[in-house]
Amino acid sequence: MSVVDDIKTRIEIVDLVSKYANLRQSGMNYNALCPFHAEKTPSFYVFPNRQSWRCFGACATGGDVFSFFMQVENVDFKGALQQLASQARVELTSQRARETDAGAFQANDAAARFFCQYLASNQGKSAREYLSNRGITPDTIERFKLGLSPSDGHSLRRNLLSLGFSEQQLISAGILAQSKMGSYQDLFRRRIMFPIWDSQGNLSGFGGRSLDDSNPKYINSRQGTTFDKGRTLYALHIARGSIPQQGAVVVEGYMDAIIAHQAGFTNVVASMGTSLTKIQASLLQTLTQDVVLALDPDTAGQQATLRSLETSWEAIHGSIIGQSKRGAVYQKPSVPNLKVATLPDGKDPDNVILEDPQEWERLINDAAPFIHFYFQAMSAQHEITTAFGKSQVADNLSRLVFQINDPFEQDRRFEELAEMLGVTKTALEASLSRLNRSKGPQQTRMQQQASSSPFQKLERDPLEEHCLALLIQNPRLAYLATDLRSEHFQRVDNREVFTNLGKKNTIEDLEEETRTQASYLSHKMLPPSDSEKTESSFSDCIQRLEERRLRLLKEEESLRLSELPPEEIFHYHKEILDINEDIGALFRRRGI
Ligand SMILES: [Zn+2]
Repeated sequence: MSVVDDIKTRIEIVDLVSKYANLRQSGMNYNALCPFHAEKTPSFYVFPNRQSWRCFGACATGGDVFSFFMQVENVDFKGALQQLASQARVELTSQRARETDAGAFQANDAAARFFCQYLASNQGKSAREYLSNRGITPDTIERFKLGLSPSDGHSLRRNLLSLGFSEQQLISAGILAQSKMGSYQDLFRRRIMFPIWDSQGNLSGFGGRSLDDSNPKYINSRQGTTFDKGRTLYALHIARGSIPQQGAVVVEGYMDAIIAHQAGFTNVVASMGTSLTKIQASLLQTLTQDVVLALDPDTAGQQATLRSLETSWEAIHGSIIGQSKRGAVYQKPSVPNLKVATLPDGKDPDNVILEDPQEWERLINDAAPFIHFYFQAMSAQHEITTAFGKSQVADNLSRLVFQINDPFEQDRRFEELAEMLGVTKTALEASLSRLNRSKGPQQTRMQQQASSSPFQKLERDPLEEHCLALLIQNPRLAYLATDLRSEHFQRVDNREVFTNLGKKNTIEDLEEETRTQASYLSHKMLPPSDSEKTESSFSDCIQRLEERRLRLLKEEESLRLSELPPEEIFHYHKEILDINEDIGALFRRRGI
């Protein structure tokens, strides 16, 4: 549940409004003199069942707890969110983040010192030999603070407890395991320890590699207060200086990244997995749009490699921070330039770099544009001289090209793809429109991934979102939106995005949830359409939103009238006719 929804379920609108207006119960509902305009007879209503309010008088407006609070306190959404959150005792994300257990980070620092000392001790001899055999110099061990965990399973805990840390802090840090019976054990036993820093340079967790090749070969700190693998890129804190000038190179393992930095390739980071996550992509894209993937040749076969690549492509094109921090909220991001470096068979990046650093440089410089690489890999799997093979490759690649947000770049890529396939662009576009109609298994998979994204909310309003996405992605439509008001949006996040449209706000000025939603909408994929169709689709959206607004108005009106004595209803006759007239006119326009 989003913070806004959380607050809405906790704050009773009658309680909130009664602090500002003298509410009088009228059947199921409440009324009062409107707090927003001067009047003698009450036309302001609160509907507890709907958690809504409406002024049927001069204001002719209504809404929910948020819009009421913003108007009555004259605060913006950010202010309303803060004050209502504290009233509802809901913690805001930023507050949560600030209150993360600082002790857990300190525990990690202390653990790293302990592991370093242990590696340097007599017990660390074979581990030091192992590292030396892997080509790692003592300077590099020092620089990356590599260490060794003892095999007994309790030395780390004892050491840290003696320094004043609590077991709870070690568990928060993800380095101590507790059994069901309640006994504790160090998570890392007899492993080479790789401290992992987050992008701010805090030591957030560890990777541990088994010394004797026992399985699992690698384990990480448990996901906890400090560590989240999918939100971390290994070595980013030292690579971030070089990346804006040189672009980023992404490798898979710690060892690859360490060896790269040791050899002077300072723009290398490790994904710690076979593909990039959306958040990892966002971390990179605040620094650069030029990203080369130098991932290990996948032992599980080419099919698995292609899937990992697709995931990285989706992450980098769906990343929520695809633009400069100073850019305007609705500015289109510059286009990601994703490439793939092909490593020689069976060689990991660290092997290549140790054997011949110039070879590595050449491989990175010769990295193929993603679409070309993917095309070649696909062609190897399908018989592209046949029409069937062609259409299979076209389908797969079109799906990827379709995710490019920039229309010109998308167009260029389609031209390229048509050329590679040896078909005309028209033929390819025909295959694309078929793609939009059918939902193949692959598209379903993408949708599953999209819905598991942490940025995806469970509650969405497709009509509001489609309308806003059209407007944000086609600012020229604004002339059609003159009748659109914030009241047309039921969801608070959409309403906020709408209210901020056209204001010269930067991303930082927006409250976090609004920012995420604005970003989502500006990247939301829309079906391909010519400008005439876009306009009519947008007008249709507005009419449907207006229809919905009037329906809500009717419902609230009948709730209000149902409580009135018959002789009073007569007074409102004109008002009712007006609304009915509006609805009638709308339906005539829509031809219903
Ligand atoms: Zn009013």
